[in-house]
Amino acid sequence: MPYDPRTIEPKWQKAWSEHRVAEIDVTKRGEKFYMLNMFPYPSGDLHVGHGRNYILGDALYRFLRMRGMAALNPMGWDAFGLPAENAAIKRGIHPRQWTLGNIANMKRQFMRWGILYDWSKELASCDPEYYRWNQWLFIQLYKRGLAYRGKAPVNWCPVDQTVLANEQVIDGRCERCGSVVEQRELEQWFLKITDYADRLDAGLDHLDHWPEKVKLMQRNWIGRSVGADVDFPVPAHRHPIRIFTTRPDTIYGATFMVLAPEHPDVQALIADAPDRAEIQRWIAGVCNQSALERQEAGKEGRFTGTYAINPFTEEKIPIWLGNFVLTQYGTGAIMAVPGHDQRDFEFAKQYGLEIRTVVAPNAGPALSRSEPAGEPALREAYVDKENGISVNSGIITGLPTPKAIEKIIDEIERRGIGKKMVRYRLRDWLISRQRYWGTPIPVLYCNKCGIVLVQERDLPIRLPLDVPFTGKEGNPLAKVPEFVNATCPECGGPARRETDTMDTFVDSSWYYLRFISPRDDTKIFDTALANRWLPVDQYIGGIEHAILHLLYSRFICRTLYDMGLVNFEEPFTRLFNQGVITKEGYRDPTDNMAWVPLGNVEWRDGKPFRGNVELLPEVGKMSKSRFNVVPPDELIERYGADTERVYTLFIAPADKEAAWSDEGVIGGYRFLGRVWNMGEQLRGGQPPPAVLIRKTHQTIAAVTHRIERFEFNTAVSALMELSNAIGDALAAGADVRESYEILLQLLHPFAPHITEELWQTLGHKDFIMTSNWPVADPALMREDLITIVVQVNGKLRGHVEVANPPAEEQVLAAVRSNDKIQQWVSGKQVVRTVYVPGKLVNVVVR
Ligand SMILES: [Zn+2]
Ligand SMILES: [Zn+2]
Repeated sequence: MPYDPRTIEPKWQKAWSEHRVAEIDVTKRGEKFYMLNMFPYPSGDLHVGHGRNYILGDALYRFLRMRGMAALNPMGWDAFGLPAENAAIKRGIHPRQWTLGNIANMKRQFMRWGILYDWSKELASCDPEYYRWNQWLFIQLYKRGLAYRGKAPVNWCPVDQTVLANEQVIDGRCERCGSVVEQRELEQWFLKITDYADRLDAGLDHLDHWPEKVKLMQRNWIGRSVGADVDFPVPAHRHPIRIFTTRPDTIYGATFMVLAPEHPDVQALIADAPDRAEIQRWIAGVCNQSALERQEAGKEGRFTGTYAINPFTEEKIPIWLGNFVLTQYGTGAIMAVPGHDQRDFEFAKQYGLEIRTVVAPNAGPALSRSEPAGEPALREAYVDKENGISVNSGIITGLPTPKAIEKIIDEIERRGIGKKMVRYRLRDWLISRQRYWGTPIPVLYCNKCGIVLVQERDLPIRLPLDVPFTGKEGNPLAKVPEFVNATCPECGGPARRETDTMDTFVDSSWYYLRFISPRDDTKIFDTALANRWLPVDQYIGGIEHAILHLLYSRFICRTLYDMGLVNFEEPFTRLFNQGVITKEGYRDPTDNMAWVPLGNVEWRDGKPFRGNVELLPEVGKMSKSRFNVVPPDELIERYGADTERVYTLFIAPADKEAAWSDEGVIGGYRFLGRVWNMGEQLRGGQPPPAVLIRKTHQTIAAVTHRIERFEFNTAVSALMELSNAIGDALAAGADVRESYEILLQLLHPFAPHITEELWQTLGHKDFIMTSNWPVADPALMREDLITIVVQVNGKLRGHVEVANPPAEEQVLAAVRSNDKIQQWVSGKQVVRTVYVPGKLVNVVVR
C-alpha cells in the first residue's frame, strides 16, 4: 500500500480527538509542565509561516507527553480588536460573527496540522464569561489606586469624527478618508504600570531562560536611569526650573537650558520675548506633531528671552525651547551640556551656543578650557561615563567621573537644591479605546457622585450586539441609549455609562491564568491550582511581543501577587521566539514597485515577467500584501500535514529566519515515503548488526537532547541518518524491527499521523502518542573504535583509531607506529607529548 496521507491523517486526528488524548485533569497530581503558544488574534487564515510556532509547540508537547509528563497545552483566542470592527464597517458583518467565523476556520487549520490542544479549556476574550473578569480586574486595580483617569492626546479624524488607533494613521493621515489627523486631548483611563517600574526592571535579572534580546528590549523600554533632580533659579521668576540629569558631574558645563514646548512655565518665560507671536506659532506647530513626526523633523529651538542661573558656576545661562525635549520623560526640562552630550552639542552648534569642556579623557591631553561655538577643534561631545576626569569643575575637579557624580549629588543635597533620583522612561499604560469591539470599562458617571464603579455583582457589563457601524462620529457604543443610560448604584439617580472599551492587551495580560479553571463563574481563577500549575514553564511566540504583551503580563502578574492571588511574580519561566519564514515575492518596477500576485507572474528563461516587464524578485516575510503566502490547505492536500511539519522543523534552527522552498517540501515527503516503505518490508531475519544498535541508541540520546533545546532541525537530521542505517540493515537481510519501532517513536513529535498508522500496523493497540519515549543505553551507544586527532607542533598531521575507551599507552603506541605521522617527527628531537584524553595528541619536536 503506498503512503497516502489523505486517508491516514483525518483518521488519526479524529481518533486523538475522540479519545481526548490532550485533555489534562489539572486537579490530579503528576509531574506538571505548562506549555503555551501565545493565543492568536483570529484574523482569518493561517499560512505556513504562522504554522511554524504552533508546529514546534506541538512537537515539544508530544515529546513531553511521551516522557510521561502531565503536560498542559491549551489554546484560546485574543478575540477583541480593531480588524473585526473594520470588517463590520467595510462589509456589514457583525464583529462577533466575523470573529467566530475566523475562530472556526483557524481551529480547523490547527486540527489539520495534527496539533493537539486541550480544547476542553478553550477560551475567547470576546466571550462575556471571559471579559467579566477583565472588568473585575479593573475594579480591583481601581480600588488599589492602580487605575486612574487623566488627559492624554489621541489621534482624531476631523472628517470621520472619530478617534483613530495609531495603526490607522498612515503618514499622518486617516487611513479611511485621507484627511490630516489632529491630536486631541481626551480624558482617558490609565493603569499605573510606572508604580512597578523598579520591580519590572529588577525582575529581568532573574529571567535566566528568556532570550537576552527580549530582556534588553524590555530594559530599554522601562529605561531606568539614575541621576539627580536639580533646581535652576530663574531671577525673573518666583520659582526655579527643575531638571533631571544622569550626568550631574557635568553641571559646570551647563551653558544653557532647554524646555519642552509643553512645559508649564513656557508661557511665563516667553511673556517678554520680542518675537513672542512667532514663538507661539512655532510651539503650536510642534505640539500638533506626533512623536514620530517630531523626531523626524530634526532638532529645532527658540530662545525664550529669559535667563536662569547655573547654581554651580553662578553664571547667567539662556533658557531655550526645543522640540527634542519631551514632557513624558524626566521633568520636561534639561540642563544642556554641549561638551558632553551629543544632542546638546548639535543644538549648540546649530544656534551658536557656548560649548565648554568639563570632563577630559583619563589619559589624554587636557583640552582647552573653553571655546566658542563654531571652533573646528571640537567635532563631537565627549560622553564617556566611566573613564573621564572632571576638569574646570570647582569642588569635583580632578575626580574620576563615578566619584565626581557621587560627590556632586552630595553637594546638591547639602545645599537643598535637589536630590538623587531614579527615573524611568516607562509611561503609564493608556487602556481607553474609543471603540466598540472590546471589554466595556465598568465605570459610571453620576452627576452627584462623580466616577462610580460598577458593583461586582452586576458584572459582566455586556457589550450590546445591536449597534450601528458607520465608522463615523465616534464610538458606536455611545449611540446605544440602553447601554449609555444607567442608574447610579450609590444614589439611585441617573448616570451615564463609560463607553470606552479596554485595550486588548488587558485581555492578554492574564489569560494564561484562566486556562487552569476556564469555566469557573465565581472567581477570576483558582489560586491553589494556579500556584501549582504556574508560572508557565514554556511560553512560545513571536519577537513582536517582546515588549508590550510580555511587559503588561509581568505587570499584571505582580499586581495579582500583591493582591495575594498568586504566589509568583513572573508569569513565564522560559520564553522561546520562533524565527519568521520568508519567501520570494515579485515587484513591478514600472508600477511603483507594487507587489505582483503570484498568479500574474510568467516565467521566461527562468526570469519572472508580467507582460513585457521583467519583475524584481525580493525575499521577505510571508504576508498577504506581498502575495508570497503559502496556504497550508493546498500543501496538505498534496503532501500531507506530516510533510509540512517535518519540513518546517527541518528547514532551519527554530529561532532563525528560514526561506521557504517548494523543493524542500518534496524532500520531506520523500523521507516519510521511505519510512513508510520500510514498514512494508519488515520481516524476520538475522539479528541486527551491532552498528545499527549503536546508531539507534545514539539517535535516542541525540534526538532527546536536541528537542529539549529546541534544536528540531538537527533532530530531524539524526532521524534521517537512523532511517538510512535501518534501510541498509534491512537490505542486508537483518531483523530491524526494534530499531524501526524506536525510529517511529522518535519521529512521532515531528510526523504524528504516519507514525500512529505504522505503529498500529505493527500490532500495537495503544496510541504511539501515549507510548513511553525510548531511553538510550549508554553501554550500547559507545563506539568500539575512537578517532584521536594527532598534531605535530600544533599542526594537524593525521589521525589514529584505537579501542574505546582509549588507554593513553595504546594511543601513543598507535601514534608511534603511524608512518604518515612519523614522517613529521623522524630526525627531530621529541621535546614532549601532550595527550588530551579521548581527543588529541600533540607531539612537540625541535
Ligand atoms: Zn477619516
Ligand atoms: Zn450617584
